[in-house]
Amino acid sequence: MKKAIILLISLLLLTAGCSVTEGEPSVPIEPSAAAEDVGVPSPDPSLIPPPSPLPSLLPSPEPPPEPEPTVITIQFAGDILLHDSTIENAKIGDGMYDFKPFFEVIRPWIGGDLALCNMETPVDVHGGNKNVIGYPRFNAPFEILEGLEYAGFNHLIHANNHVFDQKLAGLQATLANFARAGFSHTGTYADEESFNTPTMLDVQGIQIGVLAYTDAVNGLENLIPDSVRPFAVRRFSSNSLNSLPKMAEDIAALREAGAEFVIVSLHWGAEYVDKPTQTQQEIARGLAEAGADAVMGGHAHCVQPIEWHEREDGSKSLIMYSLGNFLSDQSRRNDPLHKTQYGMLVSLTVTKTPEGDVFLGDCTVLPTLCARNEEDRYTLLPQPNPGDAAVAVSMFGETTADWGNRAYEHIQKIVGEGFLS
Ligand SMILES: [Zn+2]
Repeated sequence: MKKAIILLISLLLLTAGCSVTEGEPSVPIEPSAAAEDVGVPSPDPSLIPPPSPLPSLLPSPEPPPEPEPTVITIQFAGDILLHDSTIENAKIGDGMYDFKPFFEVIRPWIGGDLALCNMETPVDVHGGNKNVIGYPRFNAPFEILEGLEYAGFNHLIHANNHVFDQKLAGLQATLANFARAGFSHTGTYADEESFNTPTMLDVQGIQIGVLAYTDAVNGLENLIPDSVRPFAVRRFSSNSLNSLPKMAEDIAALREAGAEFVIVSLHWGAEYVDKPTQTQQEIARGLAEAGADAVMGGHAHCVQPIEWHEREDGSKSLIMYSLGNFLSDQSRRNDPLHKTQYGMLVSLTVTKTPEGDVFLGDCTVLPTLCARNEEDRYTLLPQPNPGDAAVAVSMFGETTADWGNRAYEHIQKIVGEGFLS
């Protein structure tokens, strides 16, 4: 009974204690005041050792990286023309060809993020390499595409005077073969829809638009049905400025579709001449003003000048009037210089800043020589410096070193100082 009374009193006291603070705001006690109240002296801060850092298992966080500009290289080569002797030289069996050896020496030089050349001829239009043939109405073996891929090219220009050589069926088969070989391409189209679909290439995040035009189809347009003809290939006039407004519209449409860099290929002009006409210069510069960043010309079978075009706002574009033949054999022409065998591999750097500005950088020209020896063996030879002989084989009574030196000197004379090493 006594225990019960003590327990009851204890419970009453506890309940009373609780009820004192209930409903009242609690007042926090300052630690220093509390310490003074109980008479404990504050420690002298100078005597407290600094806390030793605890070993961390996590790497210290790094500052976010500065956004870097993107720099890519675009490479431009000229015409791929397969004459009978060239085709014959690549033959390895019945209906079988191998063009890879042609590119063995030069392929280390072709490593651009984007590498373009003009595939001048129809390719394997009947399937199985039936009736392959050279000049004048070409039909190249399928393996040329494997050779170009092996060389390092990854986009084909296909607007030129030979696109109708094998009629509409030949054009359609060629386009199917490009796709089968994994090549994107610009210039010819199977239908109106693809004609109106812009060629846009995403190269390391830079949107590159491509347009390709030819000023001639060797008078073969009547081989193409009326319903298809307007969309089969992009045409233009190189004798007047009449096509310029429409081409400027095409460039504007490409920009509208998101192109940050625009390449325009022009297959044009007179053959075997070293200079463009005044009209050609006006067209190229007009296209540059309209927004073309690079103009790549072809068809002359020899190289022509290169120039920077500067716009009023300080931006510039690169005009290559003719890149010459890249792979061909017109060396039997009555030309002691054999300049149809000289070409250029032009490398251009393009930069995109983190802010999204895209501009052109350096441009270098590698002279090339499509060499043929007495046994009709073909090799693409880079000629990076005068005196450098990539392969020393005898050719037409000369060594390739002699011929290569002449190619270098000729191209240096045509394109001027500043582009060659
Ligand atoms: Zn041509």
